[in-house]
Amino acid sequence: MSDYVQMWKDLGMDLETHDNLCQVLPTAFGDVYLSQENRPEGMNFWDFVVSEIHGIRPSELLEAQKKGQKVFGTFCVYVPDEVVIAANGIVTGLCGGSQFWVPGGEKVLPKSTCPLIKASVGARLDRTCPFFRIADMYVGETTCDGKKKAWEILGEDVPMYIMDLPQMKREKDIQKWAEEIAAFARKVEEFTGNAITPETLGAAIHTINEKRKALARMYEARKSKVLPISGKDALLVMQIAFFDDPVRCAQMTNKLCDELEQRIQDGVSVFPAGTKRILLTGTPLAIPNWKLHHIIETSGAAVVCEEMCTGTRYFENLVDESQTTLEGQFMALAQRYMKTNCACFTPNTGRIDDILRMAKEYQVDGVIDVNLKFCCLYDTEGYTVEKALKEAGIPVLGIETDYTDTDAEQLRTRVEAFVEMLG
Ligand code: SF4
Ligand code: SF4
Repeated sequence: MSDYVQMWKDLGMDLETHDNLCQVLPTAFGDVYLSQENRPEGMNFWDFVVSEIHGIRPSELLEAQKKGQKVFGTFCVYVPDEVVIAANGIVTGLCGGSQFWVPGGEKVLPKSTCPLIKASVGARLDRTCPFFRIADMYVGETTCDGKKKAWEILGEDVPMYIMDLPQMKREKDIQKWAEEIAAFARKVEEFTGNAITPETLGAAIHTINEKRKALARMYEARKSKVLPISGKDALLVMQIAFFDDPVRCAQMTNKLCDELEQRIQDGVSVFPAGTKRILLTGTPLAIPNWKLHHIIETSGAAVVCEEMCTGTRYFENLVDESQTTLEGQFMALAQRYMKTNCACFTPNTGRIDDILRMAKEYQVDGVIDVNLKFCCLYDTEGYTVEKALKEAGIPVLGIETDYTDTDAEQLRTRVEAFVEMLG
């Protein structure tokens, strides 16, 4: 990635510290990803994106900015990309998934904050991530307490817009979310200088629906007994989907899916027959958090589905494309986004239904409920999740972890024991 040094300098990044990250990432990726056997050829694109992760997409974003486009950084799957795209803006996900950024976040946040928030704040304040430097505006949301307070700190440094997400799903909450989306649209229009029309919003809804369909197609392939792709590879596609161009992302995912479907027909699996199938549920796994997938898939099991924001919550449910007025489209967006089941809602029984449904659809042998340390919401909901699974007779293992490697061996022991118990 050395070709991008001047770009990073111009972005005001701390090059010395950033170099340390550039040195460890390729080794980590090689150990976790390139050591896998019989990977689909379609993964070459996604490998390439990772190898140039702080170079190629940031330079595309900078080119777009030169042409007048604005870049919006987001942190949650409730923020509707469609609105930004309708105003000719670009969305990039900003959630931090590396321990590298955590100490930077701890300079201003309590240690007892979840690592995802600490890493995101650290990446900005330490000036070691180009995406955080490039985004013209950050879009936060009122989901969990840690994030709400982090927005205040980030807002001192960069323009910050916050969407007020309801925490219940009554009719009036959906109505309120539609109004909140409309208010966001007005802000985006003002910030970009571009009007959002039913035509541009309709086109943006279609674009994102196509991306959702492509990702859903990849997950459909993972339901097969013949597993054409590892959980690690599928996770990588999901993680990159948050910041790649949505049209290209759909194209490349569909290309990968052509190969996966052919593999299923030809009986080509990346795991031996009888490998135990695991559904992961819980907090998101932002790039480059590959820790648990790696442990599971080197402990004799395969991850076949993630009921997570870096998983099914990102693509399930399409937005109704038949609306022809902005009002109708904002409501269609609100209805789709409010079908997502995050633990910040109460009650959140829809998530339990999703997990039980997915356990069947993906033919899983067991479920691992994984929570990022200090995420009170998912930790507390773990009680209901694990109770429902036990009642349904589905083996479940609850895990709490962070971005460090200090618990890796202990986790491996627990996962191995769980997989053995499934046998
Ligand atoms: S877990 Fe909840 S708050 Fe976090 S990204 Fe997902 S929907 Fe947003
Ligand atoms: S993992 Fe939990 S604490 Fe962390 S950002 Fe998501 S909802 Fe908030």
